[in-house]
Amino acid sequence: MSSKSIAVIGAGVTGVTTAYELACRGYAVTVYDRNRYPAMETSFANGGQLSASNAEVWNHLSTIRKGIGWMLRRDAPLSLSLAPSWHKYSWLAEFLGQIPNYRRNTTETARLAVAARHRMREIGAREGISFDREDRGILHFYTSRTGLDHARRVSDLLAEGGVERHEVDAAGLRRIEPALTGTFVGGFHTPGDSSGDIHLFTTGLAAACARLGVRFEMGADVTGSATNKSGVTVRYDTRPEPGRRLPQSAEHAAIVVCAGVRSRALARGFGDRLNVYPVKGYSITVSLPDDASRRGAPQVSLLDDAAKIVTSRLGADRFRVAGTAEFAGENRDIREVRIAPLVAWVNRYFPEVCTRQATPWAGLRPMMPSMMPRVGPGRRDGLFYNTGHGHLGWTLACATSEAVAAAVAARV
Ligand SMILES: Cc1cc2nc3c(=O)[nH]c(=O)nc-3n(C[C@H](O)[C@H](O)[C@H](O)COP(=O)(O)OP(=O)(O)OC[C@H]3O[C@@H](n4cnc5c(N)ncnc54)[C@H](O)[C@@H]3O)c2cc1C
Repeated sequence: MSSKSIAVIGAGVTGVTTAYELACRGYAVTVYDRNRYPAMETSFANGGQLSASNAEVWNHLSTIRKGIGWMLRRDAPLSLSLAPSWHKYSWLAEFLGQIPNYRRNTTETARLAVAARHRMREIGAREGISFDREDRGILHFYTSRTGLDHARRVSDLLAEGGVERHEVDAAGLRRIEPALTGTFVGGFHTPGDSSGDIHLFTTGLAAACARLGVRFEMGADVTGSATNKSGVTVRYDTRPEPGRRLPQSAEHAAIVVCAGVRSRALARGFGDRLNVYPVKGYSITVSLPDDASRRGAPQVSLLDDAAKIVTSRLGADRFRVAGTAEFAGENRDIREVRIAPLVAWVNRYFPEVCTRQATPWAGLRPMMPSMMPRVGPGRRDGLFYNTGHGHLGWTLACATSEAVAAAVAARV
């Protein structure tokens, strides 16, 4: 146990789980975030899946072929503007360069996701966090034989990583989720997966952290940091009143960067290259106002692999639907052309659900070209990263935060 002071930059799901693991090891932790509350950026309204079954990385020729076809459709799951951007093209080049690591990275992601499941159950039980959790597994469904055949090959890789999932036929899909309407060739059910509300989980865990003595320095925009012999100086601005910035600084023994899509800029200041790209996604949270809607919405978390859409039932009267990968830089605009396909998808597969009240949201996945998070020490002493979790930040956070806390404990 140590009482040394550690700074965590970012109060999203990766920062809060990191703070928790460090506090459990006896460190005096301060979390810095530019927002007023935890989990206000990408950890706000994501797809809600804790999905080892979604561990397949995207660096595969079949995904790239599909992606090129999608670029020609305005409402496709992928949108890639061809406007010049060094960051985007360098990221895409590295993404292609990772194709040879597809098998290894998929298996490793599955292994991490299984480890995270166990740790999340322990934390949830110990801290009593309610987050509309559903433990009914995740159901992947397919409308084409090609999709199903590819999924069979993915199942073998997931099994190597310790993920158990079962193939089901069209009747089996309906048995597991009777609300699902349509014509399907089959699917896969992963009983060990679950779903819930990432914002409730992260804010609940932040409250548990505070009980353990973690200090939250909110409204603190970290502008830079410097490592020195005794540790790290964190420089940040607060805004005591509108229009005024108050520069401040604090000393810590070490720092862990969990800053989502801003991790790249912070890492650059430390001389590390972290090619995190903000891959935008969208969600709608559909309020289920009447009995017909509540009965007509699925309880089991779903993944439509062809449309790349995921769903989660959040308690009795909310239904979350998420998808889309948009390469448009750090842009958080909510575009109607991206929201409409999500609403249409609900109308198609769940016609009993009233979609009158669907709250739209957009978030930026902090994605590495390999789709593997960066977890562990940086180039300089006292500097660590737990970031770049892309499309699976919630699924993986409880494992990577343990790993980074162990790395800190080995050195600080
Ligand atoms: C549409 C969509 C659906 C998704 N669905 C799923 C899913 O079903 N399952 C799953 O596992 N994952 C999913 N994800 C991915 C997951 O939501 C993310 O990987 C995860 O939320 C990232 O968490 P984070 O802590 O890295 O980043 P964030 O939650 O963005 O947190 C980063 C924090 O750092 C702070 N910060 C940044 N820079 C600074 C600075 N300089 N100073 C102070 N503070 C700073 C920010 O304010 C922010 O609070 C989805 C993502 C999207 C967009």
